[in-house]
Amino acid sequence: MPKAVAGTPEEQHYTLANSPPGPAQKRFALVVVLVLVTVFILITAGPLSRIETGRVEAFIPIYLTGMFVSDSITAVLLFAQFSIQRSRALLVIANGYLFTALMLIPYLLTFPGVFTRTGLIGGLQSTSWVYFFQYAVFPVFVIAYALLKDGNPGKRSLRGAASTAIVASAVATTAFVLAVSFLFIAGEASLPPIMLDSSHFGPLWPYVGLPVALMSFAALIVLWFRRNSMLDLWLLVVMCTYSMLIPLNYFSSSMRFGIGWYSVRTFAAISSSLVLIFLLYEITMLYSRLLHAILDQRRERDARLMTGDAVAATMAHEFRQPLAAMMTRADTGFRWLNRPVPDLDNAKDAFKQITADGRRAEAVIESIRASLKQQGQIRTLLDVNDLIGDALALTRDDLRRHGIHLNSPANSGLPRIMGDRIQLQQVLLNLIANAIDSMAVEDGPRVLSVSSGVHGDDDVVVSVADTGAGIRSQDIQRVFTPLFTTKSGGMGLGLSICRSIIEGHHGRLGVVPNTPKGAVFQIALPAHVAGISADMDR
Ligand code: ADP
Repeated sequence: MPKAVAGTPEEQHYTLANSPPGPAQKRFALVVVLVLVTVFILITAGPLSRIETGRVEAFIPIYLTGMFVSDSITAVLLFAQFSIQRSRALLVIANGYLFTALMLIPYLLTFPGVFTRTGLIGGLQSTSWVYFFQYAVFPVFVIAYALLKDGNPGKRSLRGAASTAIVASAVATTAFVLAVSFLFIAGEASLPPIMLDSSHFGPLWPYVGLPVALMSFAALIVLWFRRNSMLDLWLLVVMCTYSMLIPLNYFSSSMRFGIGWYSVRTFAAISSSLVLIFLLYEITMLYSRLLHAILDQRRERDARLMTGDAVAATMAHEFRQPLAAMMTRADTGFRWLNRPVPDLDNAKDAFKQITADGRRAEAVIESIRASLKQQGQIRTLLDVNDLIGDALALTRDDLRRHGIHLNSPANSGLPRIMGDRIQLQQVLLNLIANAIDSMAVEDGPRVLSVSSGVHGDDDVVVSVADTGAGIRSQDIQRVFTPLFTTKSGGMGLGLSICRSIIEGHHGRLGVVPNTPKGAVFQIALPAHVAGISADMDR
């Protein structure tokens, strides 16, 4: 079954090829280009380039193996990105890297002196033709990538199994490489001569080399006008360096195994691994973003469940006994009445005991509420704006999922309050969650407004207003009563616990209707005044 195509900003946040580069990344890419180009020009254009170092036998196998590994891993990572995003552009550029990796094989096999003096296969001209062909065709992949990547998302992405597209395109690329390699190896005798001997470039070299360099330059221009992602940025860097490789190679030394020649190869290896370095760096960043997202989600869930779970567990434990007693006494009372001659006195006794058990259950609720007011509080000085910001960050996904517009102006002039951060955050989370529940089932504009202000001289007020269904006038006070709920899966405990927590902070929690519709929950908490906090803590 086709997977979803990553398209929303949230999905783009977790996919590599779509994320736009920030100013820091752009600056870094520019520095990389400038450093590479400066070092390269210093080496290849200066007198250093004419020094003939002689042939270092190990260089070609090491350089080609490094390039092969780096290009193959880049191709695999880009194919993996394609399998997530299904973008044709990614499939094309992944095949571009597969192509360059595969072209290195005939280059190595034909290179004179690596396996045998004249090269394992092919002739004198084969190596250079393979080399030029590789540098001429890779920019075509880049141009195709640049042209395919924007536009109608429906058209630019592939439907069907990603693995089929990957295998089919990889087979086509491999067949293409095999065909051209065969041409350059078997038809070597009829190829225009580029090399004079195994070390020196012939007069034809620049006439082939310069158009090949222009291909990279053309790719650079196309990509420049269509750039919008980090991947584009690093491909631009690669194309920028590739367009200089061949001209500098020719003008610096015009022969193999000079300093210029070695630096061009090293430069090419660094350039070709740039996209790989970027992909590996981004994958690491992606893991850290995912980890943060998971931790945020877990914190949100824990914060929501903490109150409900703890209270539900306590209640289940405390209620079990009075409830069991009530059922037994109800049975007994019923049996007294069900006799041929009903025993009214004993039945009355049983029903009186049921009432007493009910009172005990009520006392249990009160004691839980009282313990929430006092126990386990870690009081610190708190900025209400931070509390609101934290609670909103935790509910961001829910708001987005339900298409709720958030209106939350920060109020910088607020006095701070003394309180338990976790408990107050739970209150805000509960009010926001209720507001979302209420708006999620309503048509019309959905707006959540969370504002703060100062009331009178010494109260900090936080309002959570929604445009949901609102509360019926007969229910407006009952919503704070334990076990009152209008939701099918509701526990009816949230608001009563919230009120207990706020009262435990010497504050007030109330609700008024919103206009034109919805509800406004208001929390008033005493502002912290130096010298009074100690009194509050007692
Ligand atoms: P629960 O959410 O489990 O029902 P609460 O104590 O949090 O428990 O809420 C009790 C009831 O108050 C809800 O079932 C709902 O009827 C009502 N209520 C709470 N907040 C709102 C709101 N923002 N808009 C409309 N009704 C609300």
